[in-house]
Amino acid sequence: MLATATIPKNAYDVALENFDLAADALGLEDGLRAMIKYPERILSVNIPVRMDNGKIARFEGFRVQHNTSRGPAKGGIRYHPNVTVDEVKALATWMTWKCAVVNIPFGGGKGGVTCNPKSMSLGELERMTRRYASSILPLIGPEKDIPAPDVYTTPQVMAWIMDTYSMNKGYPVHGVVTGKPISLGGSLGRNEATGRGVFYTTVSACEHLGIPIKGSRVVVQGFGNAGSVAAHLLDSASAVVIAASDSQVAIYNRHGLDIPKLIMHKERTGSLRGFPGAETITPEELFSLECEILIPAALENAITEENAHTIHARVVAEAANGPVTPEADRILHTKGVFLIPDILCNAGGVTVSYFEWVQDENHLFWDEQDVNSRLEKVMKRSFHDVLKIQLDKKVDMRLAANMLGVSRVAEASRIRGLYP
Ligand code: NAD
Repeated sequence: MLATATIPKNAYDVALENFDLAADALGLEDGLRAMIKYPERILSVNIPVRMDNGKIARFEGFRVQHNTSRGPAKGGIRYHPNVTVDEVKALATWMTWKCAVVNIPFGGGKGGVTCNPKSMSLGELERMTRRYASSILPLIGPEKDIPAPDVYTTPQVMAWIMDTYSMNKGYPVHGVVTGKPISLGGSLGRNEATGRGVFYTTVSACEHLGIPIKGSRVVVQGFGNAGSVAAHLLDSASAVVIAASDSQVAIYNRHGLDIPKLIMHKERTGSLRGFPGAETITPEELFSLECEILIPAALENAITEENAHTIHARVVAEAANGPVTPEADRILHTKGVFLIPDILCNAGGVTVSYFEWVQDENHLFWDEQDVNSRLEKVMKRSFHDVLKIQLDKKVDMRLAANMLGVSRVAEASRIRGLYP
């Protein structure tokens, strides 16, 4: 597996550091600050699973609810070998501010299982998912905490969770998870929503900076759900995607990659490797390519103090959660790179998850155009809300987004009287 040569930073330390910067800038009082900074609940579960060879394997899983002052906890479930409780706490914390930035009535949650889904059969994955869902059952529910897909979890995984929850209740409960298959109450447009949101905020940033999308060079690290959809939409808008990577390989063509064909190649072979007409480059080279738009769409800590100075992009659009460390933030800011922070940039996923939950609860479904145009409105409005703070307070975009998210959560806590 390829990775940039950096010392991994604890994502939860990053989340706390960014919270403190926002709380300081807002002048938030100590009591309220302490109340909304830390997770409300952390559940750690032991997941025994009978593997195909007849043996029992044990996996560790987590569900964290960070804050529910604005509504039920909302956040994806990650299956990855590097999942730790600190990573899940960080991701849950970011979900709280993210839901507040796009102003949807959810709090922040996240889940994860430390496993390598790529080495497991479908049957093993199903048994692990159902056992994990049973273990976190006391926490989840349409009014309490609503999981969704994240890295290496799919609509099929959501379907198993919905089924496990429903079997325990004795009736179908569609609103317990989002990102479900359409035939099970999923929303049209949900699968593409994160990448589509990345596209809308990137277009807004380019408009603000006077960069034409047509002909802009785009580099995408992580060609999964979020990255490939963003690449596809930018390509359709006449940008030129010159490089892309996955966990195995990075590829480059200075005249542009054929994105529809690359998506088919990845679907067919499971990797970008061997794509005709592209040369292989290292992950370090990918980050240092001259381009207008760089989209980190894989995992945390992709851009650190070790490689931030090599970046030659005008816009960095954080499709992934936490891809840029605070040290790298400062370097990019000094270099004049315009950052679209994760809690704004990738909020399209949770926004359409909210639409899915609304449709499930009302048993009334919208067409795809309706979903996409509502999403566009939310993403563009949120971009301009954050930009206004950035310009008025003369802060960077990350701090502006965190200030908006934290202030909305603080206000909700005050009004509810959670904080006397
Ligand atoms: P995914 O599983 O569909 O894709 C992840 C991709 O990243 C894969 O192609 C994988 O090969 C690649 N990858 C992994 N390690 C890599 C590395 N070191 N270098 C390059 N590529 C690497 O996951 P996704 O849903 O697209 O999520 C990607 C990021 O977007 C995550 O940070 C996730 O939290 C965030 N995100 C996803 C959603 C969503 O709705 N899916 C919503 C918000 C944020």
